[in-house]
Amino acid sequence: MVAKILDGTRVAARIRGEAGQIVRDVTARKGRPKLAGVLVGGAPAAKAYAASQQKQCELVGIDYQLCELPDCTTAKDLTARLGELNADPTVTGIIVQLPLPEGIDPAKVQLCIDPYKDVEGVNPVNIGMVFEGEPIIAPCTALAVMALVRESRVQIEGAEAVVVGHSRIVGKPVALMLVNELATVTTCHIATRDLAGHTRRAEILVVAVGKPALITADMVKPGAVVIDVGINRIRETGPDGEPRRRIVGDVDFEAVSQVAGFISPVPGGVGSVTTAMLLRNTAEAARQQIDAGRA
Ligand code: NAP
Repeated sequence: MVAKILDGTRVAARIRGEAGQIVRDVTARKGRPKLAGVLVGGAPAAKAYAASQQKQCELVGIDYQLCELPDCTTAKDLTARLGELNADPTVTGIIVQLPLPEGIDPAKVQLCIDPYKDVEGVNPVNIGMVFEGEPIIAPCTALAVMALVRESRVQIEGAEAVVVGHSRIVGKPVALMLVNELATVTTCHIATRDLAGHTRRAEILVVAVGKPALITADMVKPGAVVIDVGINRIRETGPDGEPRRRIVGDVDFEAVSQVAGFISPVPGGVGSVTTAMLLRNTAEAARQQIDAGRA
């Protein structure tokens, strides 16, 4: 069997369209939403990411404000800046770019973002709402995984689902979202004794670890939906014998495509959808603020 590709680019385009619609509604009621991107230190990769975020926002009609803080910023300085952005009525969304300088705990920083403006869905209040089954602004990557699972049109209710990785913003919320849709869910992690024994049972397999080729073809049930969240930069020798760098997921894509029913590629899978989800969450956050009488 050759798996059908779950095309993240196509799903992302649909989600950007939904974001655009919400933005039009919000703009008509209260003016354009505005996302504040907080960047601590001048790492070129983080700057490039912020620039790309700004471009994406502009495409759907969201304003973007870059808040740059110096390398020497302390947790107290950052918290104070977030307090100002929380109180600023023109700012409807806040995102803190990671990684942060050593000594600043991202989870503590995320706790300081107003849950209504937390467009990444990383404040414990928003993660907790996933537990309740009624997320307002859920973690973007977990939402992206669910959108790709739905794209397969495989029935989630009653399915055996296995999530490999239990991080607070990917593995755990994905597992909860699958439970909320009545899948039978197993969560695997570093202490799991027989990983292959679990993954082989999965009709829906989500892998969010950060280890290239962790999942090989013999670990996958024929016909399964395989969602690869991992992003790994590897060095290898290209077909021309020259060294090259490449981005791969956690799944051995070539081999697993011969077994799975559906598979999300890396790049062009979860990552693309996550970027679009951030826009939809940003638009949705602005709408929630209006509906709650806060804007
Ligand atoms: P993380 O916080 O490092 O979590 C990795 C998880 O994998 C942990 O729960 C860890 O368990 C588990 N793990 C480690 N080795 C394992 C093994 N051999 N077998 C089973 N489980 C194992 O990472 P994350 O933030 O969830 O991200 C995971 C991957 O997804 C990374 O490659 C990241 O770059 C990528 N990612 C992609 C997107 C996207 O938009 N596409 C977004 C976020 C992250 P322990 O904690 O018990 O060690």
